[in-house]
Amino acid sequence: MKSADLFSQAQGLMPGGVSSPVRAIKPYPFYTEHAEGAHLTTVDGTNLVDCCMAYGPLLLGHAHPEIKKAIAAQLEKGWLYGTPTPYEPEFARLITGDHPGMDMARFVSSGSEATMAAIRLARGFTGKSDIIKIEGGFHGAHDAVLVKAGSGATTMGVPDSAGVLPALVAHTRQLPYNDAEALESMLASHHDIAALIIEPVLGNIGPVLPEQGYLKDIREITSAYGVLLIFDEVITGYRLGIGGAQKMFGVRPDLTTFGKIIGGGLPIGAFCGRKEIMSLVAPQGPVYQAGTFSGNPLSLAAGIATVRWLHNHPAIYPDLAEKVRAIEESLGTGKNAGGSFVRIGSMFKYFFRNKPPQNYIEVKECDTTAFFAFWQKMLARGIFLPPSQFETNFLSAAHTKKDLEAITGGYAACL
Ligand code: PLP
Repeated sequence: MKSADLFSQAQGLMPGGVSSPVRAIKPYPFYTEHAEGAHLTTVDGTNLVDCCMAYGPLLLGHAHPEIKKAIAAQLEKGWLYGTPTPYEPEFARLITGDHPGMDMARFVSSGSEATMAAIRLARGFTGKSDIIKIEGGFHGAHDAVLVKAGSGATTMGVPDSAGVLPALVAHTRQLPYNDAEALESMLASHHDIAALIIEPVLGNIGPVLPEQGYLKDIREITSAYGVLLIFDEVITGYRLGIGGAQKMFGVRPDLTTFGKIIGGGLPIGAFCGRKEIMSLVAPQGPVYQAGTFSGNPLSLAAGIATVRWLHNHPAIYPDLAEKVRAIEESLGTGKNAGGSFVRIGSMFKYFFRNKPPQNYIEVKECDTTAFFAFWQKMLARGIFLPPSQFETNFLSAAHTKKDLEAITGGYAACL
């Protein structure tokens, strides 16, 4: 069955026809039949160079042989036990070892679960009620953070979800990104704030990059006011390098949330932090958190294989950054005139705005109609970019020279 038929069936059976809003591409999404390396093959028989990579998890590419081997080996032994497995201390040691200051880890099944638990933990630890999130930051689809949320919420024009009780989000304060002064003045006048949760690089409306010194400033300010700093590294963890954004920018948060890459393409999340904070998590402490699928052996096997691969191939990070730089260079000044190309490591985006945006308000000034026309042309040339001006493009270790040529050729022809 073809994509158009599948979508018309799905529409009557599933809200919007999809399992997650940003996938509802107009007029209908393509359905994937299989994927390998940097390529997706659709049920319509089209082969696409993938620059979405499942919205970030697939840093090594689709169906990477070593990850496949790790999953297959675990499959033979069963895939869910409801008991601890040897993978757990192994992976906790790996992740905490890669992130100094993160002493302990709790595995969960998604990034949303990780941020939800980290926020609860911050409240439990500080005894304070409120959190600050950054406008345009996306931390998953749970109530406390569905305010001015990026990703599909911004794309679909519903950054403030119906069904979220005003009383719940009354405890979520908003601040613009790249504005340390606004943070300082909020903390000076409000003493009920438990934590600031922030994507160190805004990946769900971007990438939007931190201005020089911003992350260090917010670290100093939060420390001065006894407010926990939560880095949501669900996208940037192992994406910007081993050690993530916290290593790249030399800033140590109190808590870190992970997801995406640490599951090697299978569902996962984790939150990590200083021992004195993490010790409050149940059963060691009074902050409750639990999950049937938490630490499931398939995700952990895939995640460990991924992180070990990255440890063995550190050159992948400068390599990918160089490839993305080459994409930018290929645009040339003429082509670049109407918009701006933003990149960090293997994350990049062409914004239909003449200057790189610095925050949510500026991102929303982008010409989304022009973006969508460009996106369609790229798809017609066989290049799949995330279907939103507000989602980051990702490159993977599997993108070959030929794929790169296809991407740069696409930008040259379609902008
Ligand atoms: N945090 C960030 C920064 C994300 O990008 C996402 C998802 O895109 C989440 C949290 C939620 O993760 P998940 O989709 O695994 O629940």
